[in-house]
Amino acid sequence: MAKILIVDDSKIITHSLHSLLKIPGHDCDIANSLKQTKQLLDKDTNYQVALLDLSLPDAPNGEIVDYVKKYNIPIVVLTGSESYKDEKTFREKEIVDYVIKDGSFAIDYAASIALRIIANETTQILVVDDSVVSRSYIKDMLELYNINCLEAQDGKEALELFETHSDIKIVITDYNMPNMDGLELTRRIRTKYKKSELAIIVTSADTQKRLPEKFIKSGANGFLYKGFSKEKLYLTISQSLELLDMFQHVLDKANKDFMTGMYNRRYFFDEGTSLFKRSVKKSVPVCVSMIDIDKFKNINDTYGHDIGDLAIQEVAIVLDKHLDSKDSLIARFGGEEFCIIHIGRKVEEVHKKLEDIRKDFEQNILKTQKADIRYTVSIGYTNKIIPLLDDMVNNADKALYNAKNGGRNQVQLFK
Ligand code: GH3
Ligand code: MG
Ligand code: MG
Repeated sequence: MAKILIVDDSKIITHSLHSLLKIPGHDCDIANSLKQTKQLLDKDTNYQVALLDLSLPDAPNGEIVDYVKKYNIPIVVLTGSESYKDEKTFREKEIVDYVIKDGSFAIDYAASIALRIIANETTQILVVDDSVVSRSYIKDMLELYNINCLEAQDGKEALELFETHSDIKIVITDYNMPNMDGLELTRRIRTKYKKSELAIIVTSADTQKRLPEKFIKSGANGFLYKGFSKEKLYLTISQSLELLDMFQHVLDKANKDFMTGMYNRRYFFDEGTSLFKRSVKKSVPVCVSMIDIDKFKNINDTYGHDIGDLAIQEVAIVLDKHLDSKDSLIARFGGEEFCIIHIGRKVEEVHKKLEDIRKDFEQNILKTQKADIRYTVSIGYTNKIIPLLDDMVNNADKALYNAKNGGRNQVQLFK
């Protein structure tokens, strides 16, 4: 649960912010004065972000910022004043952002920044620059924004980091560097990662003509001349992350099953077919298994469809616990039927995994509001490589059929 601190003496502002931030997984505490803020922080200092009004009845000159800063909480300042001097003073205080409350969009913006700061906790950015000073300048700003930073001193080192870090969302790279410059790095990254997967932002002091254009044409998303402000960096990053989120959202909608968050049948065959072909070509072992809940109709008939849905969602949780996305592609095929491709695992290993899954269901009790529910699953699988993934799935299905006929709650290999 992410905790958000909202401090403003205007009830309208706290109410609007609260309604924007009241989303699952987020909890807001509201204070109207410095005194109330102190009381909240005496109880618990574990806030992921604070939205602070500069002018409070008992703290009229932004005293709240220094107070909350002591607890290392990322701060977004809210102010009614458009004074440039004030803005400059507070921006120097290592706050994340400074929002002038001049309309409803400003409140939306403040809320979106708060959510971004929370989401950034799991965001990984790679900073590539041969200058230690430049790197730490950017790193300090990013860490204030709650982002995890990786560092590399040239393009070569950056590419090496990709081998061990698959979760890098943004690369911020310098242009001139020894071994491999930023332009070559950008080109290399783009052979592997699409713009929907990763953003590249270039920072350079080089003023040669048409350099930004060259970068954009090679796949960079943005170009910042060195000396850029913290605000400019944050805006560029949040725009890139928003775009990546949007891509992800569209992909999830197309490829994932809404109820369980698992991949759907279409994605399974799209991705699975190339995964299957690549593995077979390299003689990597492949198994396909089918899992189906036993007598699921009884759950629906006895407890209702909504409890049936919970039982299906539970399958996603159990499978996730036993299987690793590194070597298995799992999908909900429809109803209470799931299919898995296991890559690079010996048949004995796969058998053991499937047995563990079966046993887990046998012992598992699903606690629901209506009742404690127990159910088992039947599993069929095949390790016999044939040219079409589709046919392997059919063979796993035949083995599943045998498992059902054999009395359910069992694992059967296709023969
Ligand atoms: P078996 O052990 O032979 O697999 O029996 P079963 O009852 O599990 O299988 P059957 O195929 O006869 O019934 C599956 C039922 O699953 C029928 C369908 O109404 C129900 N179902 C399909 N999709 C959903 C869903 O998304 N939610 C719920 N609650 N039920 C679903
Ligand atoms: Mg069934
Ligand atoms: Mg069925």
